[in-house]
Amino acid sequence: MTDEHNKQDRYKTRQQKVKEEVDARVAAAQTEKGILLVITGNGKGKSTSGFGTIARAVGHGQKCGVGQFIKGTWDNGERNLLEQHDVTFAVMGTGFTWDTQDKEADTLAAQTTWTECKKMLTDASYDVVLLDELTYMLTYGYLDIDEVLDTIAQRPPEQSVVVTGRAAHRRLTDMADTVSEVRNIKHAFESGIKARKGVDW
Ligand code: ATP
Ligand code: MG
Repeated sequence: MTDEHNKQDRYKTRQQKVKEEVDARVAAAQTEKGILLVITGNGKGKSTSGFGTIARAVGHGQKCGVGQFIKGTWDNGERNLLEQHDVTFAVMGTGFTWDTQDKEADTLAAQTTWTECKKMLTDASYDVVLLDELTYMLTYGYLDIDEVLDTIAQRPPEQSVVVTGRAAHRRLTDMADTVSEVRNIKHAFESGIKARKGVDW
């Protein structure tokens, strides 16, 4: 047998072993339940990933909801598209200022949006719920962390929840099934390029 044949044989054996290991892990994953997915970190791509998950679920005919914990007055490409596909939106619009001088108004705006999200998180007809930028509401104390985590924990068992935002609270990541951190390597904004419609919002 030539060296080349030997190499090919070793490659085949190795790949076969990898395949067997992957197959065994796939076979071992038997639990059917909704997951809590947290996408955090300082890099760009958290909300787009969350909305990508919603698009994926909508593509399968699943029922989805989105809570957005940001100033909701901007034009919002995802909302423009997904509302046409019966995705429910709860957007923290007017009233939210990020102005610490008006913490009361901010808290009220956050809680109003949260009340709408709670309806989705207690309704088993929702397959996937995205809570975009929720992390800040917990970090800044606009929402009660115990209440939020309890509601997520007690959601219908088949329902999946995606939470996005920087600096995710440790209690949230501990509770999550999947946590991904998007790391910033560089961002166009740092070279003075303006945020782009269709890419950044
Ligand atoms: P995207 O919505 O594009 O997925 P994101 O959800 O990861 O971004 P956020 O922290 O929510 O990021 O910020 C939203 C906006 O800020 C977007 O316009 C995004 O391009 C921009 N942004 C995200 N990360 C950075 C960064 N590291 N430096 C500068 N701007 C950023
Ligand atoms: Mg975001």
